[in-house]
Amino acid sequence: MSAENIKRIIVVGAGTMGHGIAEVAAMAGYEVYLADINDEILKNALEKIKWSLSKLSEKGVLRESVDAVMARIKPVVNLKDGQYTEDFAKALSESDFMIEAIPERLDLKQQLFRFADEHMPEHAVLATNTSSLPITEIASATKRPEKVIGMHFFNPPPLMPLVEIIKGAKTSEQTLDVTFQLAKKFGKQPVVVHKDVPGFIVNRILGRFMNAACWAVVRGVGDHVAVDSAIKYKLGFPMGPFELADYSGIDVFYYVFKAMSERGFKANPCPLFAEKFEAKELGMKTGKGFYQYPAPGKYARPNIPKEAGEKVDPLIILAPAVNEAAYLLRENIASKDDIDKAVKLGLGWPKGIFEFADEFGVDTIVETLEKLKKETGWDEYEPDPLLKQMVQEGKLGRKTGKGFYEYAAVEERKKENIIIRLEPPIAWIVLNRPKKLNALSVKLLAELGEALDELEEDEKIRVVIITGTGRAFSAGADVTGFIGISPFKAAIYSRKFQELLFKIEYYTKPVIMAINGFCLGGGLELAMAGDFRIASEMAMLGQPEINIGFIPGAGGTQRLPRLVGISRAKELIYTGDMIPAHEAAKIGLVDKVVPPEKLESEARTLALKLAEKPPLALLAAKYAIHMGLESNIWTGMALESTFFGLLFSTDDVAEGVAAFLEKRKPKFKGH
Ligand code: NAD
Repeated sequence: MSAENIKRIIVVGAGTMGHGIAEVAAMAGYEVYLADINDEILKNALEKIKWSLSKLSEKGVLRESVDAVMARIKPVVNLKDGQYTEDFAKALSESDFMIEAIPERLDLKQQLFRFADEHMPEHAVLATNTSSLPITEIASATKRPEKVIGMHFFNPPPLMPLVEIIKGAKTSEQTLDVTFQLAKKFGKQPVVVHKDVPGFIVNRILGRFMNAACWAVVRGVGDHVAVDSAIKYKLGFPMGPFELADYSGIDVFYYVFKAMSERGFKANPCPLFAEKFEAKELGMKTGKGFYQYPAPGKYARPNIPKEAGEKVDPLIILAPAVNEAAYLLRENIASKDDIDKAVKLGLGWPKGIFEFADEFGVDTIVETLEKLKKETGWDEYEPDPLLKQMVQEGKLGRKTGKGFYEYAAVEERKKENIIIRLEPPIAWIVLNRPKKLNALSVKLLAELGEALDELEEDEKIRVVIITGTGRAFSAGADVTGFIGISPFKAAIYSRKFQELLFKIEYYTKPVIMAINGFCLGGGLELAMAGDFRIASEMAMLGQPEINIGFIPGAGGTQRLPRLVGISRAKELIYTGDMIPAHEAAKIGLVDKVVPPEKLESEARTLALKLAEKPPLALLAAKYAIHMGLESNIWTGMALESTFFGLLFSTDDVAEGVAAFLEKRKPKFKGH
């Protein structure tokens, strides 16, 4: 069976995860059965789905009506007097794919899988959302273990992009492929876990990280505020480990860690979590955990000052997590890209764990682990053989140009809001206000303009790539700058922004926009001024200005219709809807869509290709196209002839013709 043949999906268990998974499947266009033990739970689940869909609709991400999506979900009561119902058997027999999300008990899951195996069609795949039970043991209850697989979603499924796909001992490659494709059709980013290890990728790495943080407090390195501060401010994480534990529930960490340990994850569990668990101080939900909250269930951001963590070395917490990641990689449990993707999308880390290791130096990670081992005597801190081998081979990371990744010789210039990375013949301009989703402030635009001027003069640079850090390319103009300004001032700002975008549109070197995430409002207007747009699968694009009462002010009403046609431009501008990258590609708003981990290399490949072309001819082509489009065809043709003729005065044409005749690759200089 292939993913194309899946028409109906049955989600069993309509609790926290099940109802969210059913919503995701229905949004992707599938017919969905949602099964649970009674009507009441199902009614409740459907209400929650409807509420969530209406929120997504308000945000402009739902491309059809809430009712149309709801109509695809059919509830099924699956238990009566302790027996599975006939309705359930029928629903199973009509489904091509099952996703189980019932409580985390092996006996319950095995019982369900046995029944599902008896009633589902032969081609059907049976997936489990288990966080900690062995897929192989769940599969053993069926006669089709090759069609049983782990499909681990993150909470809440409609918002969390990551799905870990886990092979059991007998899972076939075909089942893996179908499940992977289905996760993609759900709009998710799947990562593959090739061996059924407890905790898969995310929970194993998180387990080491949380445990190390907790032991740092027990060993007196600093209190929980100091550790949280070091992780937040020195590593740039969205939350410190104790803040995160409180937010998600200390019981969740306690149970996951316990379940992993029972299945052979070797670690010395830190007593602090158990103490909090036993004292029922579970974090935000009970009003107290490591921090105090205004009331149970009411969240208030804990006060974590930057200075508190000054003396804490964050590496003593990160290094054990890197060690775990190295183990997963060395044992071929997951690929390097998938491990980095998993921590970024599953845990919201600002960089992949291997990217961090390369940045701090693999040797420094090994030294930190050795120090921890010496202090504790624990084997879990023994540096993984892969890390030791890398140190021996001099693969230390950024500083030696090679670590987990390879690094071109780059020079970096940091400004307040942007980073300029010189990698001749390419220059990257990285919008760098990640906490503000790279909102375009007056200052940022000024820095961008200056950077473009500098790079225009630099003969070594042939192509410029613009991208963003974090979850956004740019989520738009910085609206805080709009408060209280006069209409006249607003018109002037709009003109200034437009001028910058003209500078990009008529820049004398090709400009590639590498759209890594949200690309909205002014962000999209910026992207449209470039020559090419390559987008990550995770990108969302739109002109949402209408939702706050105005219209695009930096070329959105002009460049968008030129790119996608009048009707589509009107639809985007009038509705303010956001569209995912693949849809943007269909209407010509972006040129190519690639997985997030490939965005940088795709942009670089295109840039290097352009960098080999004659710069003056590129410039002439660009001007002829743009200026020609804005005039009548006679003027456009005259422009083309003029540029065509002008190029005959350049050395590059002589070089191009000579190289052609001599059958060699030309070397263009831009003269
Ligand atoms: P939950 O308790 O919220 O929901 C479980 C649902 O299953 C309940 O509605 C219950 O009535 C129903 N149920 C119980 N027995 C059933 C049966 N025989 N048939 C049909 N329905 C039955 O649990 P949850 O948090 O949604 O977790 C479900 C699974 O997902 C677990 O395996 C868990 O480990 C995993 N998981 C949970 C999270 C999370 O953050 N909660 C994240 C990833 C994976």
